[in-house]
Amino acid sequence: MAPQAELQVEEIIYRSKLPDIYIPKHLPLHSYCFEKLSSVATRPCLINGTTGKVYTYAEVEITARRVASGLNKLGIQQGQVIMLLLPNTPEFVLSFLAASFLGAIATTANPFFTPAEVSKQAKASNARLIITQATYVDKVKDFAQDNDVKVMCIDSAPEGCLHFSELTQADENDLPQVNISPDDIVALPYSSGTTGLPKGVMLTHKGLITSVAQQVDGENPNLYFHTEDVILCTLPMFHVYALNSIMLCGLRAGAAILIMQKFEIGLLLELIQKYKVTIAPIVPPIVLAIAKSSETEKYDLSSVRIVKSGAAPLGKELEDAVRVKFPCAKLGQGYGMTEAGPVLAMCLGFAKEPFEIKSGACGTVVRNAEMKIVDPDTGSSLPRNQAGEICIRGDQIMKGYLNDPEATARTIDKDGWLHTGDIGYIDDDDELFIVDRLKELIKYKGFQVAPAELEAMLIAHPDITDAAVVGMNDVAAGEIPVAFVVKSDNSEISEDEIKHYISKQVVFYKRIGRVFFIEAIPKAPSGKILRKELRAKLANKNH
Ligand code: AMP
Repeated sequence: MAPQAELQVEEIIYRSKLPDIYIPKHLPLHSYCFEKLSSVATRPCLINGTTGKVYTYAEVEITARRVASGLNKLGIQQGQVIMLLLPNTPEFVLSFLAASFLGAIATTANPFFTPAEVSKQAKASNARLIITQATYVDKVKDFAQDNDVKVMCIDSAPEGCLHFSELTQADENDLPQVNISPDDIVALPYSSGTTGLPKGVMLTHKGLITSVAQQVDGENPNLYFHTEDVILCTLPMFHVYALNSIMLCGLRAGAAILIMQKFEIGLLLELIQKYKVTIAPIVPPIVLAIAKSSETEKYDLSSVRIVKSGAAPLGKELEDAVRVKFPCAKLGQGYGMTEAGPVLAMCLGFAKEPFEIKSGACGTVVRNAEMKIVDPDTGSSLPRNQAGEICIRGDQIMKGYLNDPEATARTIDKDGWLHTGDIGYIDDDDELFIVDRLKELIKYKGFQVAPAELEAMLIAHPDITDAAVVGMNDVAAGEIPVAFVVKSDNSEISEDEIKHYISKQVVFYKRIGRVFFIEAIPKAPSGKILRKELRAKLANKNH
């Protein structure tokens, strides 16, 4: 029998309006970041917003090599993992770069995590050393002792801990020659992706170089950062948004990175004025804080030329409200996802050429990448102005999830497309609009909350038979996690008891805002929670 002719349907693929660029993917990440070192050696690289101390590019480069050499002396080898449990500090940058120099891997974690959350990530990633601050040592002490993991502090050396100065005093000439391949992992942030528990996202040298180049390299160097720029870094470096789009992009561009250890509106405004910040990458809750602040009038914010919002949806009203606060700035959005490396799209209107900035759009697809919008039911790619799941393909996306080939295969298909779980459409001007989220993920002020993690904790409670967690809209946070709970027979457990039970176990942004008791959790025959139904119940309750 003659083979049946396969029906070939041409895919609808979107690309950047700008031409592709050359990307030096063969380099290790640190060599790429410092490629133009000779021309920026004496320029400010890191400014410590807390102390005012400035580190030049030459200082950062040599210190990072010393730290790498020191790590090697401590026994950290190529391919091994160190955990950065740090707020934004120069030591974060130095440690990350040192891991790259050594061919090692940095897994980044939120220092506000509870001991259980830190231990889970440290164990899953097989971290051999945890670099932190003295105040967080208690969170990691037991885990470190039980698992023979070293703990190092950047500010002092409590009993049993090493001090960071041991690394900075090492001799850079002792750094061993390592052969780093473009597909070697260099960063391992954790993300729950489209479903389930947080997983290690393997970002390679090649992937991060591609992503950074897509933002700041090429024929149009005005696309995003200049060497003269002062970039505000108030977003946490442990999240890939700041790690990539501020820290690495800033280094590559030879710009100055102004490090703020924690967000505080008054200090933020003061630092913008003092250091004449030109680029302010922020997230919607910070946009809200700035829009609402009456203090803005006291400061000169006219140095800011770009305000970029990302990590969560930004409403049009908020966009308009903050625009007036920055008279000389262009305000636009970027769209990222940890697994995508992370940037999928960014506002072209930041460029010098007169690209229009469309309100509500989260940019156009980055260069050297392909995007398609897929009908979630049929899998076919959709034309302009039709909403479907956003998919991306290119060298910038993750290598996969650490030790989890099944989750990797669910996220990156056999043709190399990464499925984001976000619903959006592309308009006639190539602008991407995100309209919904297909995946479970909840975003509290841009931070990830994985419902599966909270559901597992809830179900482990003897008074709870079943539970489901979804996001509820909230003006300040974007979304807050709320739980639908089925009580065990005769249980008298209260909403407050459940909230307290969870809050003991999780970082602040995963705390449950409301508990709704329910007879049964709506589920599909496959057992999958019908979250849409629960979200609809919430919408009804709010009316
Ligand atoms: P994360 O991996 O923590 O960066 O979270 C990625 C998710 O944040 C995306 O898949 C989106 O759901 C959401 N997100 C990121 N940027 C935007 C944006 N500009 N607008 C709407 N949602 C966004």
